[in-house]
Amino acid sequence: MEIEDIKKSKLLIHGDIYFDQSIKNLNWFNIGGKTKILFKPNSLKGLIEYLKLYSSRGKIFILGNGSNVLFDDDTYQGTVIKLGKSFSNITLLDNETIIAGTAASQKKVSEFAKDNNISGLEFMSCIPGSIGGGIRMNSGCFKKEFKDILISIQLVDYKGVVRSIPADKINFNYRSIELPNELIFLSATFKGIIKNSIEINNYMRELNTIKNMAQPTKIKTSGSTFKNPINQTNKKVWELIRSSVPNGTSFGDAIISDKHANFFVNKKNAKSIDMKSLINFVKKKVKDNTGVKLELEIVMVE
Ligand SMILES: Cc1cc2nc3c(=O)[nH]c(=O)nc-3n(C[C@H](O)[C@H](O)[C@H](O)COP(=O)(O)OP(=O)(O)OC[C@H]3O[C@@H](n4cnc5c(N)ncnc54)[C@H](O)[C@@H]3O)c2cc1C
Repeated sequence: MEIEDIKKSKLLIHGDIYFDQSIKNLNWFNIGGKTKILFKPNSLKGLIEYLKLYSSRGKIFILGNGSNVLFDDDTYQGTVIKLGKSFSNITLLDNETIIAGTAASQKKVSEFAKDNNISGLEFMSCIPGSIGGGIRMNSGCFKKEFKDILISIQLVDYKGVVRSIPADKINFNYRSIELPNELIFLSATFKGIIKNSIEINNYMRELNTIKNMAQPTKIKTSGSTFKNPINQTNKKVWELIRSSVPNGTSFGDAIISDKHANFFVNKKNAKSIDMKSLINFVKKKVKDNTGVKLELEIVMVE
């Protein structure tokens, strides 16, 4: 019934609507079945139209670059919304302040900051996600995270109401923020400090070199699988995994990276069930061996 309604309204909504689309190529793990609906709004108007029509009838998942998600093998029984070009503008507001659409990649925004002599966003050049994903995850590395540079977030709720929230009214945690899931981030304002772009560039290169030495590149992964258990132990999660899980542990094509034990990898054709089996196995082994209860960093979409 609801699918029929959506099909009828398809031509009226400003955006592209696809049915029974594979989700595999939209995430870094390269894992997952289909989504019942994939919606790519062409404008804020289109997004609001869709939310008003659909949000009370079915579930919604908002996808960024898919670098931190694990989809299920079964069809996602709802709409996956993917923001595109019209949500990826990056603009200079003043000498130190940037406003970026949430579909812009973190790499692009950090480049833009560098080109405009704004320092503070260098860490983003090491993270393969979008601005939207970075906000939701309070992403970070090298002792900097989104909360350190965010001034405000512009967003729309599932009723289609647009508003802006100042960052100092939001509680940020390690790899999460305390805002309801039923919000779609549209753009964000960031403030850095003025610095010479050559110095910024050198620092960005240094960070990327360190990161590439420590973590695997050019593989199908979603980055860190678990959060570092900062409230339970000083040890890093990769150390706990190394000391608790036998080398070479795998489930189907789901394996643990040799380079970084907290990066799980789809070697070729891993199913979601393989990756979940690996995750549960590692979680249990670490708990049995060290007493530490691991918490997922990657987001499971079901
Ligand atoms: C090789 C590799 C290295 C990585 N290194 C790091 C690192 O150093 N530090 C780090 O913190 N992370 C790292 N990550 C994880 C990941 O890149 C970050 O979490 C990233 O910020 C996620 O962004 P994304 O656009 O891919 O989000 P997605 O994976 O698409 O989604 C993640 C979450 O954000 C939500 N979301 C996305 N867009 C929006 C939006 N517009 N509005 C509301 N919610 C939204 C999704 O619903 C989901 O809950 C790494 C991942 C990989 C693959």
